[in-house]
Amino acid sequence: MFLGAHVSTSGGVDKAPANGINISCEAIQIFTRNQRQWMAKPLSRDEIERYQNEFAKSQIKIAVSHDSYLINLGSPDKDKLIQSREAFWGEIERCDQLGIPYLIFHPGSHLGSGEKAGLKTIAASLNDALSKKRGYKTRLLLETTAGQGTNLGYTFEQLAEILDYIKEKDRVGICVDSCHLFAAGYDIRTRKQYQAIMKQLDEVIGLRKVKAFHLNDSKTELGSRVDRHEHIGQGQLGLEAFRLIVNDERFLGLPMVLETPGDEEDYRRNLQILKKLRRAAQVKAKKAKSH
Ligand code: MN
Ligand code: MN
Ligand code: ZN
Repeated sequence: MFLGAHVSTSGGVDKAPANGINISCEAIQIFTRNQRQWMAKPLSRDEIERYQNEFAKSQIKIAVSHDSYLINLGSPDKDKLIQSREAFWGEIERCDQLGIPYLIFHPGSHLGSGEKAGLKTIAASLNDALSKKRGYKTRLLLETTAGQGTNLGYTFEQLAEILDYIKEKDRVGICVDSCHLFAAGYDIRTRKQYQAIMKQLDEVIGLRKVKAFHLNDSKTELGSRVDRHEHIGQGQLGLEAFRLIVNDERFLGLPMVLETPGDEEDYRRNLQILKKLRRAAQVKAKKAKSH
């Protein structure tokens, strides 16, 4: 797996690769625009080229993008929905220009219209985006959510239902967020529980749909439906869950990025912990083989 973190793009997207290298990322996640404003100006030729040069020389294996938190592809409000959909097209456009293979996003919130209606609206938003951006290579990854408020996507079944409505299935996948999974009630704290949850994920959605991970510990308890990220090993999830994920051979080669609180120093520390968990398991496996 390629371990990394969400990194800053302040000063331009081209600053991201160096920010990633600075904390020894193998993978990075970025916003391709100021994510707190609706208006996003298009990337210039220059900015795109600079980013691609920086990325190429950085030796970072993979970059993914997260969309703006303002976007709600499940909104029951017609104007808001249109605004969200248009902003989402821009997200895809910029990823495609930068050569970013995955755009990660929260499915959406139903805001009182009900789960069924919300899921349908989200799926319609995605079908619409896929047809607007026909032939684009960037894949859209639905993130598993904590299910806070009226957020959808906190059960595997809900995500499967959205996927079911999608016409071009190969262009949509899943990003598993460890904190969200746990807050939504999926216990992955022991090997046995982890394997059972992954089996469930495989049966309901299919593990081959999983294209990325967000690695965050959780401040809140199992099933709290409250989304609060914590440093790796310092939350309710604990180290074992992360040991299991970063060493799961079924997820070999996938980007796994931190979205933990704090500054670069915190990221660096959390990343070292993940790398240590990965290394320890590799050493153990080697020993077992040579015996
Ligand atoms: Mn997210
Ligand atoms: Mn996340
Ligand atoms: Zn979260």
